Amino acid sequence: AALVGRRARSWWRWARVVGVVGQFEEDCATPVWKLRQVVDAMVVEMHAGLASDGGSKLKMLLTFVDTLPDGNEDGIYYALDLRGTSCRVLKVQLGGNGSKIINHKVEQQRIPEELVSSTSEELFDFIALTLKEFIEREENGQVPGSKKELGFTFSFPIRQLSVSSGVLIKWTKGFTIEDVVGKDVSQCLEEAMSKNGLHMQVAALVNDPVGTLAVGHYDDADTVAAVIIGYGTNACYVERSDAIIKYQGLLTDSGFMIVNMEWGNFWSSHLPRTCYDIALDDESPNRNDQGYEKMISGMYLGEIVRRVLHRIAEVSDIFGDSAHHLSVPFILRTPLMAAMHEDDSPDLREVGRILEESLQTSGLSLKAKMIVVRVCDMVTRRAARLAAAGIIGILKKIGRDGSGGVASGRTKGKPRRTVVAIERGLYTNYSMYRVYMNEAITDILGQEIAQNVVLRVSEDGAGIGAALLAAAYSSKR
Ligand code: BGC
Ligand code: MG
Repeated sequence: AALVGRRARSWWRWARVVGVVGQFEEDCATPVWKLRQVVDAMVVEMHAGLASDGGSKLKMLLTFVDTLPDGNEDGIYYALDLRGTSCRVLKVQLGGNGSKIINHKVEQQRIPEELVSSTSEELFDFIALTLKEFIEREENGQVPGSKKELGFTFSFPIRQLSVSSGVLIKWTKGFTIEDVVGKDVSQCLEEAMSKNGLHMQVAALVNDPVGTLAVGHYDDADTVAAVIIGYGTNACYVERSDAIIKYQGLLTDSGFMIVNMEWGNFWSSHLPRTCYDIALDDESPNRNDQGYEKMISGMYLGEIVRRVLHRIAEVSDIFGDSAHHLSVPFILRTPLMAAMHEDDSPDLREVGRILEESLQTSGLSLKAKMIVVRVCDMVTRRAARLAAAGIIGILKKIGRDGSGGVASGRTKGKPRRTVVAIERGLYTNYSMYRVYMNEAITDILGQEIAQNVVLRVSEDGAGIGAALLAAAYSSKR
């Protein structure tokens, strides 16, 4: 009888686990028809965001970048790239004469955790000093005496006032330094630099995908858009200036302008949202914002997995005594999640090791480890497929999705090659993410059209592109 009792308990336990996992799987399903709805919703929101400010959650911000570097830029430029978790400083040497040669050197500095909720002064002092120390090393103790031009990549939503200035609209990615909101971040940086004895001027203030697109296009003229898939996510693309209705009257000479979509804030009722996404959003500092980002970017994927596992631990004892660790927000970081997902050892040794290290579990059963991998897989698959739908949305908006005649990417019946530059860790270091994303592009577009869509990885494009644009715009002045 005792044995029967134990068996029944074990059966019930697994039934509950399977129930939670099955429900989650159902709620985050992304069949192709659903992805197509997301594609169309993206196109609709793009139009709405271009029509008026506040017309959509998709901000479709002007960048004032209406020329792309052509290879004639030359000289040495520095750039500062402020991201979500790190700050990079770059020295970029441009070849000139149409050579398209770029040499660059880059150094990375982690952003101390306390800075994320500090003050404007502390943040800008930190990045100004990081840059100054780098330049001093590079220039053998000399800092530029006269005003030198700098590229500044600022990876948060900014309302640009010009190509070299702009105010922060809102923080994302967990930052909460309220006294920066509404300020011109170029000016903040320039003040912090001069206070610290570094006399430089921001010649180009760019959002990260804009830098990526500048370099992408420099390397490959078929590049029409750029996407960041890392700790945060965003995209930008080349738009006809007459299609930017809210910018009416201001036609650019080139006839185009790069538009910073801020797609992390995209929202549509077609997005497959689960109770875990809702709870995550409710507890975030930017509730009701960055809904798409919260489903697809690195800051959040591990956290979604943690929430599902926590629920499983509530209905069963498969994670043993360590279950209470699962109630700690953000304890499961996305790189660890990726490593577990990609564990191909037969006994899931790596999964066991990681859970032991981060959650202090011990002696997890193989079945429990398999559940963890399965949850990671569902979260990443949904993320990658939704990101792919976003990319196809952009291509559809600019007529490059092959859905119609010449205007939609076909010339004389042949689909036209279309390149999307793509950058950041989640896409480059997480192979399952990459696999699922490419698979979804083929699912949505069909093999024939998908063949002509090239996702081209860009390394450091966000920072190098800022230097390149600083060069392009300072030589134009
Ligand atoms: C920010 C964007 C940025 C993206 C990728 C998002 O959270 O709002 O401005 O481009 O992260 O870094
Ligand atoms: Mg200025």
